[in-house]
Amino acid sequence: MALPPSLTEKKSTSRRRKLFLTFFKVAFSLAIAALINQINLDFIESYLYDLRIRFQPSPPISKKIELIFITPETMQQLKGSPTAQDQENLLKHLLSESPKVIAYDYDLETVAGNLAEKTAWMNQLKQFTHFYASSKDLAMKGQEIKLTPPLEQIPLLAAPRTTDTLNFAKDGVTRRMMLTYQGNKSLPPTIAALENKEIENIHQIRGAFEFLETDQAYIQFRPAGTYPHLEFTQVLKGQFEPGRFRDKIILIGQDLGVAPEEYLATPYSREATAMTRLEMQANIIDTLIANSAPIRASPWFNLILIVMTSMLTVHVVLTMRPVYGLIVLACSFFIVSLTGYLIFWLLDYWVSLAHPLLAIFLCYYFFIPYRLIIENRRSWEYYQKNRLLSQVEELKGNFISMMSHDLKTPIARIQGMTDVILTDEVTLSSQQREAVDTIRHSASDLLKFISAILNYGRIESEGVQLQLQSKDVNTLIEEVIVKNEFLARVKKIQIISELEPLFPISIDPNLIRQVFSNLIENAIKYSPDETKIMITSEEKEGKVIVQVADQGYGIPQDELSSIFMKFFRSKNARSSPIKGSGLGLYLAKYFIELHEGGLFVESSHGQGSTFTVELPFKQRRSHA
Ligand code: ADP
Repeated sequence: MALPPSLTEKKSTSRRRKLFLTFFKVAFSLAIAALINQINLDFIESYLYDLRIRFQPSPPISKKIELIFITPETMQQLKGSPTAQDQENLLKHLLSESPKVIAYDYDLETVAGNLAEKTAWMNQLKQFTHFYASSKDLAMKGQEIKLTPPLEQIPLLAAPRTTDTLNFAKDGVTRRMMLTYQGNKSLPPTIAALENKEIENIHQIRGAFEFLETDQAYIQFRPAGTYPHLEFTQVLKGQFEPGRFRDKIILIGQDLGVAPEEYLATPYSREATAMTRLEMQANIIDTLIANSAPIRASPWFNLILIVMTSMLTVHVVLTMRPVYGLIVLACSFFIVSLTGYLIFWLLDYWVSLAHPLLAIFLCYYFFIPYRLIIENRRSWEYYQKNRLLSQVEELKGNFISMMSHDLKTPIARIQGMTDVILTDEVTLSSQQREAVDTIRHSASDLLKFISAILNYGRIESEGVQLQLQSKDVNTLIEEVIVKNEFLARVKKIQIISELEPLFPISIDPNLIRQVFSNLIENAIKYSPDETKIMITSEEKEGKVIVQVADQGYGIPQDELSSIFMKFFRSKNARSSPIKGSGLGLYLAKYFIELHEGGLFVESSHGQGSTFTVELPFKQRRSHA
């Protein structure tokens, strides 16, 4: 069916509005995502990265690394720093263990000893297959840095501390490792490649990225103290279980607690001395052996995530009810963070969280005022409509009661006059008598209708004051049956009652009588001739239960929920000659509920209806 032009117009404007709103949402989300993406949030992002590290289980270690520390105790026992001779003696103990690599991570130029002693140390070192020393300086392309003779034979490779001081988070925390500088491989990948051939090629290293002429990767940190370690003199005295160093990477370094450059802050702790350099090297080498450096998600991936979170936030703020919206946003905040955490923990994949979380905040705060304006306008409209409706309702009520009241007197007069005509000696033809009789019946129907409306109007405006009395419900039922016997007889309807003896209960007899009257009258009204009506009463579970069952027309399923509404009349009733106001059941239910009881119906169309009244023995409250 074609819609009237005004409706078609409305439909197309609302579609256009929807389209505009969607476009607006997408455009705004894209704009805010682009804007947020420009903001440098490295500081916050790195902090969120650190949190992920702190709250994940510590990654397993390769068990290939042993640390030997020169500590203040070493200095005490050796009466100074280990000399070349001490170094030679240490190596003698280690040689029988045949470790894989010996690597010094401190400045060997500071080791005391004459040329002969240093040569003896060097000769001892040459007994090992692999030995290295680290340098804090970076060799330029083509340049080779060497120790002074006779130590120049120790390969000296760069192994600097790559702290975020000038770049990235600028918070003084070390998170990265340097793999190459101007093409020269640094110490950790050189050593790790002895265990894991896969990483010989720098480009095979997971998460490797280029940064200012270097190749770098993120370190998979373990907490400080994770790696097995011994103090220098313990090894010197052979105080270790045999086989401990077999096939191991031995890193020798200092933990003297004096030089700040020997320590670093890590994602676990921002204390400047949170971890020794030597442990950092162990963490780096282990990351490379497992080739498990965390990968940082590409900027494109992060941008998509920002766009998605912006869109979700804008959509939620604009469409959901504020409380739900807030819950959904809190959930999305939590889900984004949790997903970021899980992805990092399970896949070592670092997804940016700072930008998406900022996107949620910004979109939310941008749109809340807009949403408030809309809500305000809407509630103002509701308020106006409501005011108008209650005015109309009041006018309607006044009109109905005024009309009904004024109609009552003329109708009573018509009734009186018809009675006079019918009882008068006046001889009327049978046709005339029938006509006057119809007038009398119609007037009585009209009066009933008006009384019902008046009654309803009074109840609506004044409420009902319950006049409670102790009364046997059966007595009321019997009274109502007697009153309706004539009506039933006209339709040849048989009223059967099965009333169990009941204890009197506290009720307002006038109201309850009205209820039964309505139910029994309806049962007669809405039943065909020569049917039966069954009325039962019993006591069950602290209640008096009365049922009025008929074999009438029944109530269609789709109308069952409406029959207790005021002025409701079934479609069939409206088109039939059966008179009614549609107020009977509404008032009946209202009266029963005032008694804290219930009125229920069961009916199937064409097969009769059963109305059940439940009245409790005791009511908890009094009614006004
Ligand atoms: P009315 O004055 O129309 O009888 P009621 O409030 O008493 O108003 O009933 C509302 C509607 O419920 C009626 O119009 C009728 O359609 C339906 N109804 C009530 N009682 C019965 C019944 N016993 N059998 C079938 N329909 C009923």
